[in-house]
Amino acid sequence: DVTPLLALNWKMNKTPSEARAWATELAGTFTGQGAELAVMAPAIDLPGVAEALRGSRVAYGAQDVSAHASGAYTGEISAAMLLDVGASYAIVGHSERRAYHAETDEKVAAKTRAALQAGLVPIVCVGEELPVREAGEHVAFTLNSLRGSLEGVDVRDARALVIAYEPVWAIGTGKTATADDAEEMASAIRGELRRSLGDVADRVRVLYGGSVKPANIAEICGKANVNGALVGGASLELDSVLGMAGAL
Ligand code: 13P
Repeated sequence: DVTPLLALNWKMNKTPSEARAWATELAGTFTGQGAELAVMAPAIDLPGVAEALRGSRVAYGAQDVSAHASGAYTGEISAAMLLDVGASYAIVGHSERRAYHAETDEKVAAKTRAALQAGLVPIVCVGEELPVREAGEHVAFTLNSLRGSLEGVDVRDARALVIAYEPVWAIGTGKTATADDAEEMASAIRGELRRSLGDVADRVRVLYGGSVKPANIAEICGKANVNGALVGGASLELDSVLGMAGAL
């Protein structure tokens, strides 16, 4: 059985000083029951978050990572830079990166490979928009996107993978997928991972994301193939984070 992961995606919220203060408070209150907790902070917040979380059981990571190891890529941040501040994770292919930064499955796969090769665990995001679900094509669409986003991934590195299913229509809208919707997709994703990666698939954590909050996390993450959550809005307040961690 895998340890569930509660990954907090702050998105573009919290300045470095706010982040440091918040993480200091978290480190003082999180007792580390059951679930693993990881803060996905803006990259500039990470050194302060790292200092605040030192010696605690809370992990941290970035919301994006470059596909390149180093060089002339203005504005980008490499996996090695993130590892140097003690990050363990990077979100890759979030729907907001796909929508506002034209990230294709191919680009996402390059970032996934770069993260894995460097020793950073990628949280690879996939999920359909509303018209795709209404057409009943959500499973086929999402699995196709998953295959593209994992193109060229070495099975030997795959143990460290995390996949997040985030239906775009449920992000920041208050519209949560039902627990059965989440399980339908998580189970389809697990099946696809078994076909492409073999037994390692059972070690891969499959998360659900989209309007997760303390009131609905237990039901969704109680499903057989859902191994945790990737949370946006509800990740900004300490009380709701502790509530979600306690419910997992
Ligand atoms: P919300 O939890 O705000 O819906 O955001 C989900 C998300 O995009 C997490 O990556």
